[in-house]
Amino acid sequence: MTSGEEEFLAPLRDAYRKSWEPMAGPAPAGPACPSLPRIAQAAAEGWQAQELAHVAGCSRCQQVMVYEFRAECPGFGLLAHYAAGDSPFAVAISRHLEEDCVGRCRRRLESPWLKGVAALLRTGAHAEDALQESLRHLASADVHLAVAPAFLPLGGETAFQVHAVGPGGLIAVTLKQEGADLVAYVESPSTSLAGHTVTVELLGQARQLRAQVILRMVDGVGAFGVHSFGNLANLTSDLGPDWEILAVLDK
Ligand SMILES: [Zn+2]
Ligand SMILES: [Zn+2]
Repeated sequence: MTSGEEEFLAPLRDAYRKSWEPMAGPAPAGPACPSLPRIAQAAAEGWQAQELAHVAGCSRCQQVMVYEFRAECPGFGLLAHYAAGDSPFAVAISRHLEEDCVGRCRRRLESPWLKGVAALLRTGAHAEDALQESLRHLASADVHLAVAPAFLPLGGETAFQVHAVGPGGLIAVTLKQEGADLVAYVESPSTSLAGHTVTVELLGQARQLRAQVILRMVDGVGAFGVHSFGNLANLTSDLGPDWEILAVLDK
């Protein structure tokens, strides 16, 4: 083999060997490291302050969180703190963004709503309460367009539609194609929300769309609002094929 061939083949051989090497597991747990079942429980029900203080400074726990985030992306609350620069999971989230999640979490970090919350968190004052209140009324859904918008059927049974209900069912959002347009419907079974506004965002690859939708009373059975984002085919060149729709009740 000539030295030119060797120069060419060596990196290929390296890459091939690496792809077969077993993935390195996290280092052994230290005495203060929360157990894996405890981490799963805390992710669902909330962390204790001393656990967070430990995780923030423990490379082993950050590595475990990288695996956790591989199974389930960090939620809006964790990302808001990450954007605010005060996340105990900062190392793990950074690695998640670099290594595992090129789409979803990056799109979420570009959300104008999330950026606003992060700015509030940086100022302190009651921001955490406001964030938790928002998260209780946040509905979101991933959208994946399997076909280019130009080929989507205009109306009819197979027209594209996604629906998301927030925790507790207070806010629901439906995004659908109506004729050539992309339209968001926001609903709440609570008539007391009539007059409130809901921020609706469409988070795409290179573009975010945002609308404030005012809810109006519907025959005493609930509150309802609608917003058209305009021509679907025109929107999708910037939005890309993967989006997330987000609806959050304004306070
Ligand atoms: Zn640890
Ligand atoms: Zn992610």
